[in-house]
Amino acid sequence: MRRAAVNVIMKFGGTSVADAEAMARVISIVRGQLEASPNDPPPVVVVSAMSKVTDRLVETARLTGEGEADQAVTLLGELLERHIGVAKTLVGAAALPPLVAAVTKDFDEVVALVRKIGPAHDVSPQATDTIHALGELASSRIVASAFLERQIPAAWVDSRQVLVTDAEHTAAVPDMDATCRKTSDIVGSKRKAGQGAQVAVMGGFIGATAAGVTTTLGRGGSDYSAAIFGACLDVDEIQIWTDVDGMLSADPRIVQAPLLVPQLSFAEASELAYFGAKVLHPSTILPAVAKNIPVRILNSRRPEVAGTMITADGRSGGSPLTALACKRSVTVVDITSTRMLMAHGFLRRLFEVFERFRTPVDVVTTSEVSVSVTVDNPRRLEDIVSNLVSFAEVNCEPEMAIVCAVGENLRADPTIFSRAVTSLDRIPLRLVSQAASRRNITFVIRDADVPEAMARLHHEFFEQGQARTD
Ligand code: ADP
Ligand code: ASP
Ligand code: MG
Repeated sequence: MRRAAVNVIMKFGGTSVADAEAMARVISIVRGQLEASPNDPPPVVVVSAMSKVTDRLVETARLTGEGEADQAVTLLGELLERHIGVAKTLVGAAALPPLVAAVTKDFDEVVALVRKIGPAHDVSPQATDTIHALGELASSRIVASAFLERQIPAAWVDSRQVLVTDAEHTAAVPDMDATCRKTSDIVGSKRKAGQGAQVAVMGGFIGATAAGVTTTLGRGGSDYSAAIFGACLDVDEIQIWTDVDGMLSADPRIVQAPLLVPQLSFAEASELAYFGAKVLHPSTILPAVAKNIPVRILNSRRPEVAGTMITADGRSGGSPLTALACKRSVTVVDITSTRMLMAHGFLRRLFEVFERFRTPVDVVTTSEVSVSVTVDNPRRLEDIVSNLVSFAEVNCEPEMAIVCAVGENLRADPTIFSRAVTSLDRIPLRLVSQAASRRNITFVIRDADVPEAMARLHHEFFEQGQARTD
């Protein structure tokens, strides 16, 4: 049984608030935290939208953009019903009407927006965010009421009044200074220890510009919200409650029976999250690093399991690698200088093109005359290629994937690299790279080869008795 940290932020993901039963588990976990540290500030609770709700809202925005406002409104009606159904199960007759009224009002506003913009067959990023934000607004309102119903002193806090971001809709960047000021004012005042302290319940993923326009942090962003609020409140621990026991040695949807990684470093967690370990949004670690706050991943279905602890110097134990991750469906772009050798300034010009179209590249390898990069988001690829062809030959190869092996021990043991390559025998390796940090090895392979490659690497490094036991 793990020892409870006293001052924590607890983030519950979509499956952890999927329905009334899951929300009841959240209530008992939060009650456990309150009982374990009665004299300390109550936890702050951040929740995602109920499972699959954001996917439906993405569909709603898409239908709206295609001029199918009626279908979009039908979808919204179904979602509202699902939320009211859950609210009815958890909240008694006295508190139900104001809760249903508040949730319905949020939905009505989005229905009105859809009706207004539908005829134009165009949904702006701003409208998209307003539609997407509905899931976290509704789930957080329901969870706050459910807490009160079960005698947990709680207050719903509108995250849009706390998390201040820029106007980069659908991928907004937080303004940490402004957000921290508002967090201490609005959230801090609710949780002051002693009589009357309340559990602040907030939606993750959503925020607003300084002018009050709703924004979102990007898919999976509730983890990031929790880390932002946790850093602002200087908590002892940022807890990410999800549907697996913690960070696993590989994606359980790809590798059978991966192992739990009990501890790892911030740097390892960042690499794994960036390269596809969906259990953690890639930006989550940044605020935690800034304030040196441990991040713990926990299973809301098995709260007794210690989970994964992520800290600055988290020891990755004796095993050669800490975990594997993979990013699927990436495109490899080969760019060859049209001069014989790479001319002075070639790399600068090349990367300027990617920068101009705000497209990050993940893996980069170079030879004397050519550069290969991988691009995860192909949205601006056509523009990029048409710019690059003015000074280079360009070839794009879609349906590729990045497989990434991460571990602090890679620095100390150079034989791990050759073991990894050997284990991938006969799988064509399109690009191979080891970054300067020497904390990861990255292979770019065909997407179709991912299951086989992951299984072989996992077998080599995690299934032959070297799995760590600490
Ligand atoms: P939540 O809704 O709680 O935010 P997510 O679906 O975003 O949950 O993330 C949890 C999921 O991440 C797991 O169910 C698992 O399928 C997936 N996942 C991918 N890679 C890993 C990994 N290395 N360790 C644990 N989970 C992983
Ligand atoms: N609900 C959002 C999503 O599904 C954010 C999150 O769950 O983290 O992407
Ligand atoms: Mg998530």
